[in-house]
Parts: sequence; C-alpha cells; structure tokens
Amino acid sequence: MHGKAWLLDDKGNMIGLGKEIKGNLFYLDLGDCSCLIAQLEESWLWHKRPCHVNFDNLVKIRKHRRVRGIPKLKKPDVDLCKNCQIGKMGKTSFKRKNYWFEDTLEIVYTNLCGSIGVESYSGEKFFIIFFDDYSRMMIVMYLREKSKAFEKFKWYLARVEKEIGKRLKCLRLDRGGEFVSNEFNNFCIERGIKR
Ligand SMILES: [Zn+2]
Repeated sequence: MHGKAWLLDDKGNMIGLGKEIKGNLFYLDLGDCSCLIAQLEESWLWHKRPCHVNFDNLVKIRKHRRVRGIPKLKKPDVDLCKNCQIGKMGKTSFKRKNYWFEDTLEIVYTNLCGSIGVESYSGEKFFIIFFDDYSRMMIVMYLREKSKAFEKFKWYLARVEKEIGKRLKCLRLDRGGEFVSNEFNNFCIERGIKR
C-alpha cells in the first residue's frame, strides 16, 4: 500500500497504521492502543548485556552465582548472533603476488634522464638510475653524453655483482634509446642478462 506502513505484532496482527508524511517519515496512528513495549527475548538480552558472552558461559555464570540477579536462561534454538559472527571473522593476510622478486639482482630497472637545463659543475647534463626491485637499492650516476650509458651500466654491474656476490638476471629498460648498440646486446647475451 503506497504511502502507508502497517505495524504488526509478533503474531502478524495489525496494531497500528503509519501514514507517510514526507520522504520516508510516517505518522503512526495507534487507534485505541495506548502503550507499546519493545521486547527482546531475555536470553538474548543477557547475551548482549555483558558484551556478547556465549550462552554456555551464561549458564555457568548463573550456576556459580557470579552475577547477582541473572535469571534462569534458556539457550536459544538458533544461537547465531550477527555481531558475534562479525567479531569472530578471521582475517588473512594478502598473498604475495608471484611477480614480486625474491632476491637482489633478479630484476633491475634503469632509466636515463636529461638533458637537464643547467649542467653540473663538471659538465654533466644527464643522469642514469639503476634500481634493484627486491632490495630497493638505487644508484644514480651522472653523464656528459647519452652514449656513456653502457659504460655506466658496466661499472654498476661490476660493482654490485662483486658486492652482493650474485649475477644480474634481468635488466628492464624504458626503450629510451640509451642501450641500442650491438655491443650492449652482445654483452647481455654473453652474460645471460634478460631484457
Ligand atoms: Zn553476540
């Protein structure tokens, strides 16, 4: 019935009629009825009062007279409490994605930046970054010319491989053109460096 809401008792008898005033707001006409009481089953009330104690413990509490005034309670047939269910939900951690790398030098990203508007005191206008995905170690080196990128890469590789005691497996480039020479290609093939 549009614009009206019925208020029913627990047996389905209509005890009041609401008429919509505005929006979702209803005016309740109770007719002859003068008193209403909202009642929660006593067992549930006692479950909620001491912060959602389970029913077996409530029985024990009463039996050992730990709380004064607690009545004899009947365990509800269905003792599923929505709040308790939410509270007991387990949380699992996110799985590591399998493309995350497990070790240093498994994958290194490189990028050449420049030219920078103002060159350094020693005349460099470019810089190259080598970033190890696993350790997050980043090395920045400055260059006068783009063509020096390969030289810097060889220097980086010699240094980190010696220090870490591992070989680089994969070098990721941004295709910026700094590593296009055959010399670089052959170097990577010989050393088994994927790109
Ligand atoms: Zn509960």
